[in-house]
Amino acid sequence: MTAIYDRVTLIGLGLIASSMYWAIKRAGLANEVVGYARSEETRNTAREIGLCDRICDTAIDAVEGADLVVLCVPVGVMGAVAAEIAPALMPGATISDVGSVKRAVIDAVSPHLPDNVHFVPAHPLAGTEHSGPRSGFAELFDNRWCLIVPVDGTDDTASDALEKFWQGLGSLTERMDADHHDLVLSVTSHVPHLIAYTMVGVADDLQRVTDSEVIKYSAAGFRDFTRIAASDPTMWRDVFLSNKDATLEILGRFTEELFALQRAIRTDDGAHLHDYFTRTRAVRRGIIEAGQDTAAPDFGRGGSK
Ligand code: NAP
Repeated sequence: MTAIYDRVTLIGLGLIASSMYWAIKRAGLANEVVGYARSEETRNTAREIGLCDRICDTAIDAVEGADLVVLCVPVGVMGAVAAEIAPALMPGATISDVGSVKRAVIDAVSPHLPDNVHFVPAHPLAGTEHSGPRSGFAELFDNRWCLIVPVDGTDDTASDALEKFWQGLGSLTERMDADHHDLVLSVTSHVPHLIAYTMVGVADDLQRVTDSEVIKYSAAGFRDFTRIAASDPTMWRDVFLSNKDATLEILGRFTEELFALQRAIRTDDGAHLHDYFTRTRAVRRGIIEAGQDTAAPDFGRGGSK
């Protein structure tokens, strides 16, 4: 594949940025990839493992001459990072991000950007519970959706190029409005994470079941919860604080359904439970048919990622 951008700069060098780097190299999507991370430790690790063609010690230096800059930092600091790099952005450059929430990021970043750059937010729906510069791998985005969320008035050519870039990284792409994105993701990702955190917290609190029993007898459902609940605390704190409205709406609905199931159990309403579980089973089948997971008992992870 020929390069889509001459120089791509990745700000923040964690799971997503490091996976992007390896996937950019795999497909030859940029002539040069420059990286920057806040801590010296992460910058040194990046240099040590050959993550990025060049690592800069300041964000300003890193974005110089880049025709694509991607913010790969937690959602809560996107605005501050945008403010820091804004004066050094090349006219005509595209600025994007990979944040898990879109409306809050658009509101935080847009005011800082000069008129002569294109802002095209995006969100790859791919991740693991691991974080940091060593956690990335080139296949992370393969066959996963990346939602492109252009802001009003964005230049179509800039959005098209970014969409092609994500396709080159292995993703399937679709465009979506920011508010709709935040609602969809609260259902498919944010609230499920909150539920996993809660269940693992409950198991941890329960005095009558020891920690060693929880670990030793950990069955499939709980094991998956622990994997999700091991996700990065900073990232997920920011996700919930930035997607408040949608999270609270879906959590409200979740609580209602939970009470209905609780009542069905108390009143021996087996028909209700059976109907409910039949409906939810069909959702699982739909996900497998859409190629977004496998029917294997370990979800195809082979016990690793
Ligand atoms: P990560 O592995 O924890 O890496 C975060 C990076 O951001 C690190 O390099 C960190 O630098 C840097 N950073 C943190 N605070 C900063 C600050 N105040 N100023 C400058 N840099 C800062 O995170 P990730 O999983 O790649 O997530 C990055 C973004 O992708 C987040 O917005 C997240 O919502 C989104 N996302 C994540 C997933 C997922 O499953 N992980 C999926 C899709 C989208 P240091 O290492 O120097 O601290």
